[in-house]
Amino acid sequence: MSALFNNYSRRPISIVEGKGTVVKDQNGKSYLDFTSGIAVCCLGHAHPALVEAIQKQSEKIWHTSNLYESPGQVKLAESLVKDNHLSHAFFCNSGAEANEAAIKLARKHTGKHHIITFEQSFHGRTFGAMTATGQEKIHKGFGPLVSQFTYLPYNDVQALKEAVNDSVAAIMLEVIQGEGGVNVITDEFAQAIQEICDNSDILLIVDEVQTGIGRTGTRFAFEQTALKPDIVSMAKGIAGGFPFGGILGTAELYETFGPGTHGTTYGGNPLGVAVAQTVVDNVFNDEFLNDVQKKSEYLVKKLKEVLPEDQFNIRGKGLMIGIECGGQDVAQYIVDAENEGLLVVAAGPKVIRLVPPLTVTNEEIDQAVGIIEKILLKVSTTV
Ligand SMILES: *Cc1c(COP(=O)(O)O)cnc(C)c1O
Repeated sequence: MSALFNNYSRRPISIVEGKGTVVKDQNGKSYLDFTSGIAVCCLGHAHPALVEAIQKQSEKIWHTSNLYESPGQVKLAESLVKDNHLSHAFFCNSGAEANEAAIKLARKHTGKHHIITFEQSFHGRTFGAMTATGQEKIHKGFGPLVSQFTYLPYNDVQALKEAVNDSVAAIMLEVIQGEGGVNVITDEFAQAIQEICDNSDILLIVDEVQTGIGRTGTRFAFEQTALKPDIVSMAKGIAGGFPFGGILGTAELYETFGPGTHGTTYGGNPLGVAVAQTVVDNVFNDEFLNDVQKKSEYLVKKLKEVLPEDQFNIRGKGLMIGIECGGQDVAQYIVDAENEGLLVVAAGPKVIRLVPPLTVTNEEIDQAVGIIEKILLKVSTTV
């Protein structure tokens, strides 16, 4: 029995070092890391610019709290809102915390309480974020939950239209449901949501914790849809592996988060800001993002070449790709891939999720697809 609580089902390897897409375990075995620490290490492991950023900052100052001005936070906020309709940022330390901030901001701003979220969504493990999560297995045993959340089927325009009324403060969703199975929003659903929000005082919260910061080939995934969120939550990729999160909001929301309304001790900590600024400077760049899109096309093309369409459904955007294997449970495939030197993560019980570093190379994609072919089709390959 370990001195740790048993709340994760961990694989029996420990990753001790990494460089780019490649990590090594305690026995020196190498793996291609197509998990990126669950869509976190967007610039790969030990990226020289990130190593330098944190080293330099660690020699200056680690922490000051939000008692004082933070030019670093201001600069980071400016970088994040530069190419979109959003205006202000608040920084915290994780995705769940970002969603808590988003929910609090929406309730306070509208003076209403009712939040609509979707089945199979995932928004985090704290009470508000857990309640927002439309999965019973995540709620089980922890009730009573936060009141006035409603879960609707994802991509169901009719159900949404029937559920919307004057008591709704916000609609909250992921553009691609990550933990829920790499489920991509339909154009029709995005348009319907935006139309509802345009014609009412309902706020739109888009949870970009997994899809944001270049993961889907654009700065944020909402840019590829009709959605124009009032609030965007971020975390995971934003600081490439350093714990960091935040929300972005429109100018109209500025007054709602006045002094004393919300906060966190570590939010926007100088170490986190230094790393996040370096990530954003690298990723929010059209050349980098075009490259992510090209690699995405390459990965999907290669997967489709080896996996028959009638057995495997390949979906997603950018470097967030799911493979559904004809309704089969994928747990064993994940172990098989690990044995062959490829780390992948499930998205729900039936989907294999590929979320490599955004810096992955085509050669690494070739190797990974070779292993995926081998384990899914149980054929021998020469890769
Ligand atoms: C991972 C995730 C979260 C929770 O983030 P934490 O940092 O684990 O709290 C929230 N929303 C989405 C979409 C996520 O993928």
